[in-house]
Amino acid sequence: MRQLIAGNWKMNGLLAEAEALAEDVAAGAEGLSCDLLVCPPATVICTVADVVAGAPFAPVAIGGQDCHAAASGAHTGDLSAAMLRDAGATWVILGHSERRTDHAETDSVVHAKVLAAVAAGLTPIVCVGETEAERLDGRQEAVVGAQLAGSLPVDFAGVVAYEPVWAIGTGRTPTEADVAAMHAFIRAALLRHLGEAGRLVLILYGGSVKPSNAAALLALPEVGGALVGGASLVAADFLAIARAAQAA
Ligand code: PEP
Repeated sequence: MRQLIAGNWKMNGLLAEAEALAEDVAAGAEGLSCDLLVCPPATVICTVADVVAGAPFAPVAIGGQDCHAAASGAHTGDLSAAMLRDAGATWVILGHSERRTDHAETDSVVHAKVLAAVAAGLTPIVCVGETEAERLDGRQEAVVGAQLAGSLPVDFAGVVAYEPVWAIGTGRTPTEADVAAMHAFIRAALLRHLGEAGRLVLILYGGSVKPSNAAALLALPEVGGALVGGASLVAADFLAIARAAQAA
């Protein structure tokens, strides 16, 4: 299976910046053997979609960073999955730790959002990961196992991203052995939860991935790609990570 390198731009990028970044990513995407995805702020999805549609090389997919569980209605400030699809997205990140923290999103909320995303034709990337305190207590597998069980429907056919909360935006990463162990744990949990279909779910690693550590992380067993935050805002760094995926 091809690895997926996904960029989470978070709350960064006015129109001109997003356009320039998308142009640089699209221009460098030629010849990659991994799949590329960028998840810009919703306000610039249409702009990024236009850039990508006009690019001569391998397509770059576009995703949202969240969606509401409802299809429409009185939810001021929220966006439905169909709105993201309409704007040009085909993917959506769900249950990112920043959403779980900033918006108190529970596993059951994430579960409902996964159903809404799939109904609207979006492929969900469901994020799971333990806090530093939970890892220090040795509870990382219990935490991630519960997040998977609570967030994924039994017919889940999207992507899972393992993102230890303490590694996001900190420059710190788990050891390679810890990443491999958690990805093996997640694969086993997916097989229990989804049956044989669990073998087809890509498991991304996310948390301070950069050009200097990407090759080692992406070569680990059961690492199906990366979810990249900070480094995805610099096209050269994002593309360097994508080239590391190709070599893995
Ligand atoms: C993220 O927020 O999904 C992420 C992985 O961020 P960073 O790469 O900056 O740690």
